[in-house]
Amino acid sequence: MLKYKIMIDLSYIWIDFECPECNYQDQIQLIDIKCEKTIYCNNCKISIQLEDNDASTHEGIETINKAFDDLNNLFEKFK
Ligand SMILES: [Zn+2]
Repeated sequence: MLKYKIMIDLSYIWIDFECPECNYQDQIQLIDIKCEKTIYCNNCKISIQLEDNDASTHEGIETINKAFDDLNNLFEKFK
C-alpha cells in the first residue's frame, strides 16, 4: 500500500495585509514576513518593514500543519 501525505508549502500562501498608514488592503506572502522583507504600500507609497517579532507566523504554520496531520491520520483509517 502506497503511503501518501498532503504537503503544502505554506510559505507561499497569500495573506491579507493592511497598510498601517492608510489602511490600504493588499496581499503579501507568508515568506515575506518570515524574511522580514521591506514592502511598499501601493497606495501611499510608504515602506513597511515586516517583522516576525513574536514568531506568530511560525506558530500559525504549526497550527495548520497539525490540522493536516489530523487529516492524514483520518485518511489512514480508511485504508
Ligand atoms: Zn498605505
